[in-house]
Amino acid sequence: MITGSFPADIFQSIFEKSPGSLLVKGDIPRFTIIAASDSYLQITSRTRENIVGKGFFEEFPDNATKDDENAARKVFTRVVETGQKIEVPVYRFDVLSNNTGKYEPRYWSCCNTPIADGGNRVAYILNTVVDITEEVMAKEAAIENENRLRLAAEAAAFGTWELNIQTQVFNYSPRLAEIFGHPAGTSLGLLDVRAQIYADDMEHIVVDAYLKALKTGKYLYEVRINWPDNSLRWIKVQGVLVYDEKKMPLMLLGTILDTTESKRDEIRKNDFIAMVSHELKTPLTSIKAYLQLLSRKLEPSNDKFINNALHIANMQVNRMTDLIHGFLDLSKLEPGKLKLNLQVFDLNKLIEEMIGETTLISPNHKISFKPGEYLTVSADREKIGQVITNFLSNAIKYSNKGSEIIVSCQQQAGGVQVAVKDEGFGIKPKDQEKLFQRFYRVESSRMKNISGFGIGLYLASEIIQRHKGKIWVESAEDMGSTFYFSLPLHNK
Ligand code: ADP
Repeated sequence: MITGSFPADIFQSIFEKSPGSLLVKGDIPRFTIIAASDSYLQITSRTRENIVGKGFFEEFPDNATKDDENAARKVFTRVVETGQKIEVPVYRFDVLSNNTGKYEPRYWSCCNTPIADGGNRVAYILNTVVDITEEVMAKEAAIENENRLRLAAEAAAFGTWELNIQTQVFNYSPRLAEIFGHPAGTSLGLLDVRAQIYADDMEHIVVDAYLKALKTGKYLYEVRINWPDNSLRWIKVQGVLVYDEKKMPLMLLGTILDTTESKRDEIRKNDFIAMVSHELKTPLTSIKAYLQLLSRKLEPSNDKFINNALHIANMQVNRMTDLIHGFLDLSKLEPGKLKLNLQVFDLNKLIEEMIGETTLISPNHKISFKPGEYLTVSADREKIGQVITNFLSNAIKYSNKGSEIIVSCQQQAGGVQVAVKDEGFGIKPKDQEKLFQRFYRVESSRMKNISGFGIGLYLASEIIQRHKGKIWVESAEDMGSTFYFSLPLHNK
């Protein structure tokens, strides 16, 4: 409660310049208006002479509803009776616009402060109002946007979720519970949800995705979950990381989608490819063996046509064998299917072996490699060999005969980095981003005559990622390419 006295003239001029203030007498129920500030008069389109001396509710019943009026009367009465300050955080009072001549909705927040006379009796109420229309409108727009977003997400059968990383508070839309096999809106904690994710996927996929999100800001994974009826379902989770003002990770938020149907289709397709590839392996091995026998038998005849035909047949059989192995590998990439057979070995030695094999098949390129120090990694030797061979065979495929390929293997901070550099056609930036996707091939007239299926680099990137390594390319069109991968160094 404000008490004490002010020099009347000073008080008056301060008051009249103050933003949105009105002084009324505590004479229940009339509440006679004693003074009004300039801005208050402007807001209410009144003049001082018109309102001073009148009862508040005689003057301001215009566009207020009866309920609003009663509520305001109650507030004034309570201020006088209790001597307590009462705030009204938001109310609507429409204002006559000078431009349109019509009432326009505006929102206000007001505070009613009791002012005592010499004793304890409330003699006046100081009513100060603040225009909060902008804030209210912004909040309404935000709510509307959120609702719109939620409707769109629901139409797409998405669930939405947010996780506060610091407090671990987890909020989600009702659809999320359905995706996990519960009635919509069931209350689930973060631990309940995590417990339904396959342990293997949780350990290898979710944890990796989280660590990646901390680095890149983007969260993405697809994993298997167990429904309460014990059936297997697939979910795809996508999100972004939000930082606080100190740039610390604050929230993860995003969407969740049930991808079981499309995943089942994909698995059926993969199983089919695996089955066909497997069936083709046996006759192909036998064709290859017979071709070799034929070659050996017919070579001494020196018949140019026969030798040429056998050479081409051999090449085609090799291509087909590569393709079939590629498809078989592809079908093993389902989570839980690609098992790494870890062993500790020297990477330099493996690179030398792979270069040896490649040179035998493609003797027309010069491959140089200077093995450096002994660098041991703990990895799947065969699969890393496959990645190196893929880099080498691409470097050969996508460059001119006689050009040079340089291989290097170096120790970097905490890891080993292998690079295969060619002087070939190079790759445009827009293609570089997509090379590691399944079935992606660069479309250009030059590439048309080079066979391939766009699975080699996809397989390589899956293999390297499972080893917690990195794979990337640096290239420019017509300037050659360098493909890299890195692996964590084995600590002895
Ligand atoms: P494939 O060679 O069977 O098409 P990959 O997955 O190994 O499949 O490669 C995908 C695509 O990346 C290739 O089709 C090619 O366009 C491009 N590419 C790969 N390596 C190189 C390279 N060294 N130089 C230029 N382009 C390359």
